Amino acid sequence: MKVVMGLELHVHLLSKSKLFCSCPTNYENKEPNTLVCPVCCGFPGSKPKITKKVLDSGIMVAKALNCNISPVIFFSRKSYPYPDMPKNFQISQYEIPLAFNGYLEITNKKVRIKRVHLEEDPAKLVHVGGDITSAKYVLVDYNRAGIPLIEIVTEPDFESTKEVREFLSKLTSILEHLGVYDASKEAALRVDTNISLEGGERVEIKNITGFANIEKALNYEIVRQQNLLRMGMQVERETRHFDADTKITYSLRKKEFEEDYGYIMDSDLPWIEISDEWIKEIEKQMPELPDTRIKRFVKKYEIRERDAKVIVYVDKTLADFFESCMKIYKKPKMLAKWIVADLLKCLNYQGVTIRESKVKPKTFVELLKLIDEKKITERLAKEIIKEFVATGTSPKEIIKAKKLVRIEEKELLPIIKNVIKENKKAVEDFKAGKEKSLEFLIGQVLRKTKVRADPKIVRELIKRLI
Ligand SMILES: [Zn+2]
Repeated sequence: MKVVMGLELHVHLLSKSKLFCSCPTNYENKEPNTLVCPVCCGFPGSKPKITKKVLDSGIMVAKALNCNISPVIFFSRKSYPYPDMPKNFQISQYEIPLAFNGYLEITNKKVRIKRVHLEEDPAKLVHVGGDITSAKYVLVDYNRAGIPLIEIVTEPDFESTKEVREFLSKLTSILEHLGVYDASKEAALRVDTNISLEGGERVEIKNITGFANIEKALNYEIVRQQNLLRMGMQVERETRHFDADTKITYSLRKKEFEEDYGYIMDSDLPWIEISDEWIKEIEKQMPELPDTRIKRFVKKYEIRERDAKVIVYVDKTLADFFESCMKIYKKPKMLAKWIVADLLKCLNYQGVTIRESKVKPKTFVELLKLIDEKKITERLAKEIIKEFVATGTSPKEIIKAKKLVRIEEKELLPIIKNVIKENKKAVEDFKAGKEKSLEFLIGQVLRKTKVRADPKIVRELIKRLI
């Protein structure tokens, strides 16, 4: 059954002040309802005023997504009868978005971007004693109300969750390179997605936070709809909620149509002309984007394109980390290999990003130099890196504390002789042509030396001795 999916992303645009007032946006860990004013609390008679810097960032994002930019824009009021918007409308863009008709290229296709527009974030609701359906009561924190959001809407061009994952990681890397997005901020990226299977109605899943949850929600929904259709039942057009704890989606409301929101133009805000000069000025300030950076990595450092893509698309800080290491280390291929294969594996295992981890370029390079100088084997380095990433203790200190230096030949010979003596059958098998027996003998030596021996040398010595 063919799957069709589209995304609507809401991203917090980094800005010192809110979209329509001068209240600060750094609301994390702040006393609730302290970063507020009559405008973001929606008091009658208060007048919104656009923060130009946010428009600049919006234009930058639109250009990076290959969009056309509307020459004139205005803002509209969208009916919003929920307590997180006290004025009962949200200032958004509807009739004419900031930008439209763009695309973002992933491995096998161009994902079309339908529109990009700016709007204010509602306040934050805190459900006390349960979730959205079971809470005893709800508290509202207006510190978040009015934070600038950019909404990016794709056409329904995704056919698998793999494509969605690739798109999201590329998009967030672009936003990070533009300096308009900080993934570590709470609720910095929220996604609504619509999904339909061939022969079924379109279902929307609202407000999913975090990459992993987006994939889980989509996977769950694909299976749910497949099962319904297989049983000859209808998939209803509706809006569903994804519960991150139980990992299932459930029905919130039957789908309303855009018209139900009753948009009207916001006459408190002026029409804004976006001139070609303005766009050119922004283009001049555009930093290096991920695709250009990947090409530069391949050309300048001669690393594999595959590795460059992983390093740049995981997140910008990893690409920055790579370049910081390159300032103090001269073997880019070795560096790329260890970042892609081992460092990332350990970071994922710990559930942290490079920025959140205690790994620093200096200590990471220290590990690679220990391998280069043949003080430790690669096998041993793979053990050390696990502890290094988990604790931040420098590789040299780990080695010292655990006495993990590489075993030299002199010390190695008696161990190998012993292994040969203890495994006569394997020795005979090897002599009879069974290559696997040699691997077994090498394994025995490595086990006895706790991987402090270099497998290549062990191989040579065993062959020499038997
Ligand atoms: Zn305010």
